[in-house]
Amino acid sequence: AKHAGGNSLRFFDQVDRSGQAEDRLVVEAELRHALRGDELTVYYQPKVNCETSEVVGAEALVRWNHPERGLLAPGAFIDVAEETGLITRLGDRVLKLACAQGRSWLDQNRIIPLSVNVSVRQLQNPQFAADVLKTLHETGFPPHLLELEVTETVAMADPDIVYRITGPLRDAGIRFALDDFGTGYSSLAHLRQLPFDTFKIDQSFIQELGKSEGSRSIVQTILAMAQTMEYDVVAEGVETREQQAILQSIGCGTAQGYLFGVPMDADIFSAWMENCPSRNARRSGSGQTGR
Ligand code: C2E
Ligand code: MG
Ligand code: MG
Ligand code: MG
Repeated sequence: AKHAGGNSLRFFDQVDRSGQAEDRLVVEAELRHALRGDELTVYYQPKVNCETSEVVGAEALVRWNHPERGLLAPGAFIDVAEETGLITRLGDRVLKLACAQGRSWLDQNRIIPLSVNVSVRQLQNPQFAADVLKTLHETGFPPHLLELEVTETVAMADPDIVYRITGPLRDAGIRFALDDFGTGYSSLAHLRQLPFDTFKIDQSFIQELGKSEGSRSIVQTILAMAQTMEYDVVAEGVETREQQAILQSIGCGTAQGYLFGVPMDADIFSAWMENCPSRNARRSGSGQTGR
């Protein structure tokens, strides 16, 4: 009888939800296991100069080499990590791996500034700033080459925490970026006060470029605002030449997206850098002078 009429919808709804709950428990257990081993890894996506396509840095993005499910992107587990608090350990792992990799690139005379995403749970940990500084010290990655990305929603939800955290870290030379900019509801007054260095314009705006009326003006307005506030700007999710051309024409400095490079594991990223001489401008020693 439960299968009949109006009840059937609810029946399947319940099945679906309990299935999801079970999945979450499985993901949590497996994630705990992953954090004890070395299944978590970091991919690197280039950030480029919009005009020259020269690499100016990379964003570190967590990946999970799942023994059965293969390589997983954060969408498959980051929510569970947040809800269970495992994100603190995950974030710590990612930062250590990224800084160690950044140091190893430095040792090969390759200066690659790295951006690492941090979640609200990490920021709420009173030890966070000290932990970050310790990791930099232990890995030998210079603070001025590290940028921490905090989403706009998080930065606005708890400005006090943001101030407390950014103080000592900025004093050490670490930069801060406002991630997914444009998806939150920041007031201009708040934005102006945030001790950040960079806006990362959310990919939803960039992907509209060339498709919809007005999208160009919106991005242009964000750029103008950033300029006034002396923020750098990164356009996220650039996929087409047309989008790049529009960004170039309105003076956007830095871009990131599949057009330039997808997230790659460290070895592939190194090989990718190696294969294109124009990407080597930031190599120390040889430097920018030849171009
Ligand atoms: P995000 O920080 O905004 O990172 C950019 C996301 O956009 C990445 O997805 C990247 O692969 C994707 N992307 C880059 N270029 C393009 C493009 O041209 N087109 C499209 N459609 N997508 C593009 P990913 O790696 O799946 O990461 C998703 C989100 O997960 C990140 O968004 C970030 O919020 C979060 N995340 C990733 N790694 C970490 C981490 O180590 N810690 C924390 N707390 N969050 C992380
Ligand atoms: Mg990010
Ligand atoms: Mg983003
Ligand atoms: Mg995002």
